[in-house]
Amino acid sequence: MWQLRNVVVVLVLSFLLVGCGTQRAAWPAHVVSLDGFTEAEAQEVRASIDKLNAQADKPLIEISGEASQNAYLIHIDRHEPWPDDPMTAGLTTREDDLCSVSLSTELFKSDREGYVDSVVWHELGHCAGLTHNPKQGTMMFATAKLFTTFTNEALKSFIQDMRNSLSSEALGQ
Ligand SMILES: [Zn+2]
Repeated sequence: MWQLRNVVVVLVLSFLLVGCGTQRAAWPAHVVSLDGFTEAEAQEVRASIDKLNAQADKPLIEISGEASQNAYLIHIDRHEPWPDDPMTAGLTTREDDLCSVSLSTELFKSDREGYVDSVVWHELGHCAGLTHNPKQGTMMFATAKLFTTFTNEALKSFIQDMRNSLSSEALGQ
């Protein structure tokens, strides 16, 4: 009898938890860590995020100050090239309340410098919930290209897609 009552209590609690829902993390997101980078590399990543925020009319990604209590958290780390796929520039794992972005060390070699913004923006697009776009010339195309070769329209439509993705998921305002 006791056992049965315990089971009932547990079920009710679980149901209540599901019913209340966990509070979804809110945007603008907050970058809480930049791990493993040299100072110069970290500065390049920050500059890419500044550039993204400048293109948006209000910041999408905060990188300084304290994260607000339910901010969507982004971790960014420096990663040695993936042995199975050494041409991979970045890898993003996304969850409801946090996103982990790994950037390949290859990206910071001098001959690839023009790709940093493209890769950082692309991976942050994944954090926002965007998937790959089959259309060449878009930021979410699966293969990175030089940032300077994106048209202004492509940059604008990427920011718009990012915003739409966030609002469609109701991740805060
Ligand atoms: Zn991708």
